[in-house]
Amino acid sequence: MNKMQMLKNEHVLVLGLAKSGYAAASILHEYGVNVTVNDQKPFEENEPAQLLSEKGIDVICGTHPLRMFDDKEMTILIKNPGIPYENVMVQEAIRRQIPVWTEIELAYHLTSSPFIGITGSNGKTTTTTLIYEMLKKDGQKTLVAGNIGTVASEVAANAAGDEWIVTELSSFQLMGTVEFRPKISLILNIFDAHLDYHHTREEYEKAKQKVYAHQHENDIAVINLDDPSVVKLAEGSKAKKVFFSVKEPVEYGAFIKDGAIYYMNEHVIDLKDVVLPGEHNLENILAAICVVKNAGCSNEGIVHVLTTFSGVKHRLQFVDTIQSRKFYNDSKATNILATSKALSAFEQPTILLAGGLDRGNEFGELRPFMNNVKGIITFGETAPKFVKLGEELGIHHVKHVDNVEQAVPAAFSISEEEDVILLSPACASWDQHKTFEERGDMFVNAVHMLK
Ligand code: ADP
Repeated sequence: MNKMQMLKNEHVLVLGLAKSGYAAASILHEYGVNVTVNDQKPFEENEPAQLLSEKGIDVICGTHPLRMFDDKEMTILIKNPGIPYENVMVQEAIRRQIPVWTEIELAYHLTSSPFIGITGSNGKTTTTTLIYEMLKKDGQKTLVAGNIGTVASEVAANAAGDEWIVTELSSFQLMGTVEFRPKISLILNIFDAHLDYHHTREEYEKAKQKVYAHQHENDIAVINLDDPSVVKLAEGSKAKKVFFSVKEPVEYGAFIKDGAIYYMNEHVIDLKDVVLPGEHNLENILAAICVVKNAGCSNEGIVHVLTTFSGVKHRLQFVDTIQSRKFYNDSKATNILATSKALSAFEQPTILLAGGLDRGNEFGELRPFMNNVKGIITFGETAPKFVKLGEELGIHHVKHVDNVEQAVPAAFSISEEEDVILLSPACASWDQHKTFEERGDMFVNAVHMLK
């Protein structure tokens, strides 16, 4: 009997709705599971809760009543990945030894399709997209799921059973996995991130490590040889290890030699033919090649994507050339590391558009990457810090404006031919925008307005 059959007539608590909770509750209900949904938002304002209630699902909104655990013997709690483990309901489930899942675990039990699990601190969406596009171009049956925007359990529930499910996984999602076993796994890199949620670097790494944890000898683990933390996390993995490095040739995997990318001594493509800018993207490309090669992808599929794919929206996305100035939208760069990578991608004089939510950090770590920066246009809560940094570095043009919309013409007015004008804020957008996508779209619109 598989897991879904075992869950029939059992009680499952779905904590937190949003897209993933809604999908999990609906799917479980269809499988004959007794679902209870608990969401913080009051019922009257909660459309997904109302829709689930209409389907006959038990919905409790506005509070987290612990008596729920006495009323029904819960078999599993499925929580929204963003809900912290300190939440009273999660704590109660742990106290009662009820397994706590995220819907990734549910997705895994819903299909026989093999999963490709992609995680890391930075580069997940870009690499997930590269892998998906390469496999598709190769003519393989492929679906994309997870953090990238499509709910994994929904994708898995509708899968035929013989497609690759290319899944972008956050540490929050991985933490709630129990048996999840991707056929091919990948950790791109590990930097200090999300420590407000995981508390310690160790806990964060442990969550990421779960992508390898249940793999077997005939599965594949793709490992970044240049990142000692990733190499260490993979030590205990049973899977066959495939490595990538931008620094040195590797025996078993992908690397760079004499201006070209190789996989196991086979020439794949010359670097000059790769469209995607930035050294960090070379890491993502090598990682993607390791994955798709092990999924049986031909070089034609790989080369086609690498010669045409210019970036995912808001991630060092090329926007336009106007009067010989090149505009790039890297609104997703919500931390210093991401902005340092973006700055390293260009050798031309650059005007940096930066600033946003103030998390209390300083921006001195950007100094080594600012050699080509001839102007800073800054906005948002951290603007004074960028003004100070610019002045300390003796950058000629430093200007504080109200928002991204104003920043674009301000940057253009101080630019010259062949300059790069780069939005890479090094800060989250929530002081002025709902999402980084909104900030990026505002930038792109302002660039189009210049025309
Ligand atoms: P994620 O999905 O992990 O947030 P993205 O692909 O959306 O990653 O990229 C987010 C930002 O991180 C980009 O703006 C880019 O500047 C930076 N980045 C992408 N890949 C890497 C990498 N391999 N190492 C470091 N930084 C990267």
